[in-house]
This record gives sequence, structure tokens and C-alpha cells, in this order.
Amino acid sequence: ICGYEPSMHDSIIGNTELEKSLALAISNNELQLFYQPKIDLKTGKIMGVEALIRWIKPDGTIIKPDAFVPIAESSHLIGKISEFVLNEGCRQNRMWQKMGFPNIVMSINFTSSDFYQNDLKERVLDALAISGLESKWLEVELTETLALSDIDYAVDQMNKLRDLGVKLAMDDFGTGYSSLSYLQILPITLLKLDRSFITDIQNDNIAFEIVSAVISIAKSKKIKTIAEGIENHEQEEILKKAGCDYGQGYLYGKPMPAEELEELMRNFL
Ligand code: C2E
Ligand code: MG
Ligand code: MG
Repeated sequence: ICGYEPSMHDSIIGNTELEKSLALAISNNELQLFYQPKIDLKTGKIMGVEALIRWIKPDGTIIKPDAFVPIAESSHLIGKISEFVLNEGCRQNRMWQKMGFPNIVMSINFTSSDFYQNDLKERVLDALAISGLESKWLEVELTETLALSDIDYAVDQMNKLRDLGVKLAMDDFGTGYSSLSYLQILPITLLKLDRSFITDIQNDNIAFEIVSAVISIAKSKKIKTIAEGIENHEQEEILKKAGCDYGQGYLYGKPMPAEELEELMRNFL
């Protein structure tokens, strides 16, 4: 026996329509990378950016990734999107170096279908070779859930990227099953503390204790830490005291087009 609701039909048709217009958007170059600064909490300077994808419709409407990345993931479109993100991220970072900005790390987000590709290493190598970017200025962000879906293969793939010299960040840490023991196994270089721990860290003592403990464990493993979603100075101060290395959030800047980030770098660096 299968349940049926008219809304199921609507949702399938809706998703197919969205898939079609997304395919068209990709070929019409409507996808664009926005960049959000990552700050070194010790120096207050920009040490990297996270590339976050946006779909800019011809009428100027900006669509956020949550509205189309899941659809892209359930079709073949995610491969094309990730290819674009990888190449464009490397190209842009190399361009900033050529423009004379101090070197920063470019972080890109990968979904599990990107990450588990057999030719992952070759794709990354190609993007680095085409752009001329050195591998140490590229970082790949992966979520915990992704890494744990096939831990042995994940470690294998991660090691391939690490061998190239590419950095590896664990995104949204604390939202999945977050076993601290995985910090032993996964060859990551950066841990991103999820925004949900940071939002109320001023008032929520448990969040503060968890964050402090994770930071010290990461330190003992020589893994750097970054807090996501810092929105005010109070949160920043608490995180600095807890020994967090880097920060990212609206306090320093929302995701923005490349030209705006250049403006910010001129003032910030
Ligand atoms: P994420 O990788 O965890 O990215 C952080 C999200 O938090 C971004 O949302 C960013 O705009 C938002 N954020 C940053 N600082 C603050 C803050 O201070 N306050 C608040 N309220 N929010 C903040 P965005 O850009 O909408 O991206 C959402 C998610 O979509 C990302 O989460 C990532 O998982 C995914 N995504 C974005 N770009 C790509 C991409 O190129 N490829 C793939 N596969 N996924 C992507
Ligand atoms: Mg991310
Ligand atoms: Mg995140």
C-alpha cells in the first residue's frame, strides 16, 4: 500500500521544473561565487575566504544554495556546479595573488557525490594546473555526515587531497553525530564549529563548555579551529579567550561578490 497526496505530485513537477531551469542557468552562466571573509582572530586580518554559490537570475534575483543545491544533488547537475566552483575558486584566488593581494586560502564546499568521485584527485590537480594556484591556497570543506557515510573510502579520498597539499576542513562540526574520536581518524586541518554553538555562546554555558573542549582537543591534534556565524564582538571575545584560531560571520562580512571583497581586503589587510 502506498500513500498518495496531491502535494507529492506538485513537488515532483516543481522539482523537475526547477531542475530544467537550473540546467539552463548553468549553460547561461547565471551561477556566481560570492566570498565570505575568514578572519585570523589573533591579527584581525583576512586569512581566507569561503566560496558560496549564488544563482543570479537575469532580473537580478539572487537565489541561495539551499534552494537549489539539494535539487542539483539529486540530479547529474551537481557535478557541473562543483566543476565550476572548483575552477572558478582557484582562478579567482590566483587572480587576487596576481593583483598583489596577500595570499589567502580559498575554501570550497563539496557534497558527497563530488567527494566520492574516483577521479577527484585528477579534477583538483587539473583545476590547480589550469589556474596556476599552489595547492596550499586551496581548502575543501566537507561535512561530517558525508565523511562518515563510508569512513574508509572517505579517509582514502581525504589522504589523496592531503598528499596534493590541499587543506581539508570539517564543516558544521557538532551538527551530526560528532564523535570526537573521528578527529583521530580523519586527516583534517581545520575544524569549523557550527553556528548553532556560537549563536548564544554569551548566555549558554553548555555551548561555551562544548566549544572550549572541542577547541582544546583540536589543538592537541594540531587541527586549527574556526567559529562560524560570529555576529557580534561579545561572541568574538569569548572565542578568542577560548583559543579559537579563526572566525567567520556577519561581524566581518556577509558573502559578497569578488569586487566587494577586494574593497574589504584593501581596508582590512
Ligand atoms: P556552509 O558551508 O556551512 O556555509 C555557511 C552558511 O552560513 C552560508 O550560507 C553563510 O552565508 C551563512 N553565514 C555565514 N555567516 C553567518 C552569520 O554570521 N549569521 C548567519 N545567520 N549566517 C551566516 P549560504 O551561502 O546560504 O550557504 C548555505 C549552505 O549551502 C552552505 O553551508 C553549504 O553547505 C551550501 N553551499 C554553498 N555554496 C556551495 C557550493 O558551491 N557547493 C556546495 N556543494 N554547497 C554549497
Ligand atoms: Mg562551508
Ligand atoms: Mg558551515
